[in-house]
Order: sequence, then C-alpha cells, then structure tokens
Amino acid sequence: QTKAEGRHGYRFFDVSMQRLAQSRWQLEEGLHKAISQQELELWLQPQVTVQGVISGAEVLLRWQHPDKGMISPLDFISVAEESGQISAIEEWVLEETLKKVKSWQEAGLPKTFRHISINISPSHFMQADFISRIEPILKKYPLDNIDVEFEITENLLIDNFAQATKSMKVLQEQGISFSIDDFGTGYSSLRYLNQLPINVLKIDRYFIAPINTLEDEAPIVDVILLMAKKLGLEVIAEGVETEVQRQFLAERGCRLYQGYYFSKPLHHGEFYAMICRQQVIVPSE
Ligand code: C2E
Ligand code: MG
Ligand code: MG
Ligand code: MG
Repeated sequence: QTKAEGRHGYRFFDVSMQRLAQSRWQLEEGLHKAISQQELELWLQPQVTVQGVISGAEVLLRWQHPDKGMISPLDFISVAEESGQISAIEEWVLEETLKKVKSWQEAGLPKTFRHISINISPSHFMQADFISRIEPILKKYPLDNIDVEFEITENLLIDNFAQATKSMKVLQEQGISFSIDDFGTGYSSLRYLNQLPINVLKIDRYFIAPINTLEDEAPIVDVILLMAKKLGLEVIAEGVETEVQRQFLAERGCRLYQGYYFSKPLHHGEFYAMICRQQVIVPSE
C-alpha cells in the first residue's frame, strides 16, 4: 500500500519517509495526552539588565515525555502547529504562566521583576478565534505591575499584515506588549516597525555568537541598536554567552540581555528560588 511499490521504485527514500511520518505521528499522539497528563512544564530564562538585575523572563516550554525523557520545543512545536494542537498548548502555557506569576507575587517577588514573555506561534496567533479565546484567560489573572509580552516573529507580520495589525492593536488595549523574536533572521521588511504596537526587538543569537573580542565588528548589531533607538524600541540581545559579548553590547547601549552567560532556562520552581535570591552573575562594574 505504500509508495514503495510505486512507479519509480524509490524504496529507500520511501522507507525513511515512512519512519519520519511515524515518529511525527507518535509525537502528535503523545501531545494529546501531554496536557491532561501534566507532562508539559514551564521553564524560564531570566532577562538581565545592564546593572545585573533580573527584570523579566521568557517562558520556554518543555515536554517531559514518560518514555523519551525531555523533549525540546524545537522537536514538538512544529508538530503541534501542523496538527492544530498548538492553540490548546499555548493557551495552557498562557494560563499556567499567569497563574504562576500571580502566586509568586502573593508569595513575594522582587519589585525589579517587571515582565514576562511568552512565545506565540504564528499559526496560533492567526486563528480566527485567537483573541476571543485568550481574553478570558487574561481577565482571570490580572497582574499588577508586570507586563505580559507576546513574542512573535517577523514572518507572521509580513504574511498577514492587515489581520496581525488588527489583533495586535486589540491586545495592546488589554495591556499586552509585543516583541519581535529572532529579529533580523526573517524576511526583512521594516515597514511594520513604526506602524505596529511593538515594544521590543530581540536580536537573534546568530548575530551575537560571532562576537569574540571587544575589537570585533558587528555591523548588523550596530544597525539594529541604532534603528531601535531612533524608533524608541527596547532591545534584548539573545544568546549572550560570554562577558566579552555582554560588555560589547553594553558599550553600544544595549541594556538587556538573555543567555547562558547569565543563566540557562530553569524549571519554574528553580527559577523562582533563584529570583528570590537575585542570584545571577552581576557584572563587575
Ligand atoms: P526562542 O524563542 O528564540 O528562545 C530562545 C532559545 O535560545 C531557547 O531555546 C533558549 O534555551 C536558547 N538560548 C538562550 N540563551 C542561549 C545561549 O546563550 N546560547 C544558546 N546556544 N542558546 C540559548 P529552547 O528553549 O530550546 O526553545 C527553542 C525555541 O522553541 C524557542 O526559540 C521558541 O521559538 C520555541 N518555543 C519554546 N516554547 C514555545 C512556546 O510556548 N510556543 C512557541 N510557539 N514556541 C516555543
Ligand atoms: Mg522567544
Ligand atoms: Mg528568540
Ligand atoms: Mg531564537
């Protein structure tokens, strides 16, 4: 019944295709249970200011699979997007995140912690009922003094400019702010930058990784920082792994960083313990 016996007889190719399809199907099946069986976990990575203070965090999803162990979002988000499960998963992420942050506020949270970022998949964002489904979640867990930020990608904006604009404006009125994730790696169109309610550009780590010494040149980083300044946008550098990179960015006026140099993503419990101790590498000056 397979294409293996088909006209061209690409048997080898078909077998490997079949195996791939099978493993995707297994992931898809597994994802159905992942929410109800509480296999999904919120992990958080701190965002650190130039003064070394944790001012926010990005939520990064992890799947603790009963047999396969921890599965990276890189391996299951695309499956969830294709199968249509992404909406349910990200609604869960949003609700759990707000619930968690609210409980942290009640238990005690440093006043310097001011915002929380959540990744939203384009295929979720563009669902016709996206707003009507997340509104009740936002209303249920109002957070005082903490911004909720949605991370979206450039491609979402380019592919669906009109609808994306409309949704963003509605959400902005509900207090949501927006950052452009992996900035500089998508189709580059700049027209949306001053037409949409965008607050933050996240420089992709692709541009940060090559920086080795303070004398290096990073023209793209320079241009992004200058453009952000002109447009009144904040910038977060992603993938900051070394003190040299941090200092390089600081010298150019980039004041917010996220990366392994400060901390890897942590399980939410560990993250809360860390933020209560404000334990992060504080730059020497
Ligand atoms: P992202 O949103 O660009 O998140 C940053 C990724 O870079 C994370 O990978 C993070 O662990 C990693 N990272 C942070 N600092 C460093 C560093 O210094 N060096 C290196 N090499 N990597 C660093 P992670 O957690 O594996 O997530 C991968 C991607 O999965 C995310 O990329 C995001 O696009 C996606 N993702 C995670 N959670 C969700 C979610 O709830 N919804 C959607 N749609 N996507 C998600
Ligand atoms: Mg992100
Ligand atoms: Mg990113
Ligand atoms: Mg990235």
